[in-house]
Amino acid sequence: LEDRRRRRGGRRKREMEMQVERVVEEAREAFESGGTRSYFWRRSQLRALKDLILESEIAICDALMLDLGKHRVEAFRDEVGLLAKSVDHALENLKKWMKPEKVRVPLVSFPSTGEVVPEPLGVILIIASWNFPIGLSLEPLIGAISAGNSVVLKPSELALASSKFLATSLPKYLDNKAVKVIEGGPLIGQQLLDQKWDKIFFTGSTRVGRIVMSAAAKHLTPVCLELGGKCPAIVDSLQGSRDIKVAINRIAGAKWGFCSGQACIAIDYLLVEEKYAPFLVDLLKEKIKKCYMRPGHLTRIVNKKQFERLREILEDPLVAATVVHGGSLDQENMFIEPTILMNPPLDSEVMTEEIFGPLLPIITLKKIADSIEFLKRRPKPLAIYAFTKDGKLKKRIVEETSSGSVTFNDAVVQFVVESLPFGGTGPSGFGKYHGKFSFAEFSHGKAVLKRSFLIEISLRYPPWSEDKLQF
Ligand code: NAD
Repeated sequence: LEDRRRRRGGRRKREMEMQVERVVEEAREAFESGGTRSYFWRRSQLRALKDLILESEIAICDALMLDLGKHRVEAFRDEVGLLAKSVDHALENLKKWMKPEKVRVPLVSFPSTGEVVPEPLGVILIIASWNFPIGLSLEPLIGAISAGNSVVLKPSELALASSKFLATSLPKYLDNKAVKVIEGGPLIGQQLLDQKWDKIFFTGSTRVGRIVMSAAAKHLTPVCLELGGKCPAIVDSLQGSRDIKVAINRIAGAKWGFCSGQACIAIDYLLVEEKYAPFLVDLLKEKIKKCYMRPGHLTRIVNKKQFERLREILEDPLVAATVVHGGSLDQENMFIEPTILMNPPLDSEVMTEEIFGPLLPIITLKKIADSIEFLKRRPKPLAIYAFTKDGKLKKRIVEETSSGSVTFNDAVVQFVVESLPFGGTGPSGFGKYHGKFSFAEFSHGKAVLKRSFLIEISLRYPPWSEDKLQF
């Protein structure tokens, strides 16, 4: 029986491999036919994507409700609305992005002209994560098709309804020879990584990011890795009741109102001056009671594994002792109450690993300026946030710390500003996307120099003589 099961497993694996090979082959044929290069193809695909997003608003929100219990408004704000805005931006700018960029040429090459011509890379593999399963699949797709590539997309198996939605809807709207969806988990992911790609765009954990990069090395495939990390928010002792109120709204929103903290750019922890911390905690508690306790207003934890991971973090006795608000877990509905921790040990998991959930540690410092040293001693995060009006502190944060982005007096919104590049640095990843940065990420900027036959300088060539150096 065992033998038969093993044989059946082997057969299934081989079938999957063949399916993967076939899909990649078709995507390559579509690219090599030249069809994806034209402006008209790119524009028609972007328009079709826009139709899909708008016509499927309800289906997308339903899928996100099933996968994550995301409220309809949150689903619209973070995925449907954002994607529609992104496609519009690409449609508006596509012609401009596709234009060769003229450059100045030095006198030594006179007469000549130079330009950088954007060229599609070829066949792109996009591997997406589960927390924004539609947005993080389609946002890179917008860039890849704008740049004239064919694409194979693998959504996350952990957001199954969203994955199914993408697999059934994309072929109905887009050119299904050039844009393909393959569903599956790590096994399919691994089989996809065994293929030859022209670029791999990966959103996910640092652990799998390493696997992606090692696989890419085999074919010298360029990769863009959108990874995670611990995004801190420095909260200065703000004066003025309106500023404090706004800051609290934004901090709570970027933790509990953003996929329950299951987001790469969610606030991971706060850095606050000792004397300001009790006041801040009171305000946060109030905000939680008002906005984040009603059922349906907080996204649930994605699955049992993640739920158990968060439970273990919280149930470490040294961490549990620091809970100043919340801490209750509802396993049946996979909800974790918004939880505030005051000064958990810096070597506990809650402060060494990305939290990816609704737990908010507050770390107190003697002076807020000490936050710079605190951050410099830790891995470079995807984002640093700082709520402050102190110009000197802002300058020091920008100049002395390193992160994918810095946002002052807000959090998470940097993601919607398509004129800013989005991406990490160091362990939070590399490569940039959004807007024209996506177009560049999925293009090769080819250097084209056009010379004429007019002027010829024989000094360039042998036979060499010392007097040639005089010129
Ligand atoms: P993950 O790394 O477990 O999975 C990501 C994707 O990789 C999934 O599609 C999964 O099926 C696939 N995968 C898993 N193992 C694989 C393997 N061996 N070979 C090939 N593919 C494989 O990450 P996740 O749990 O889906 O997402 C959470 C992580 O993603 C967090 O660390 C978070 O910070 C990060 N993230 C980053 C961004 C960003 O934009 N920087 C956005 C969202 C999430």
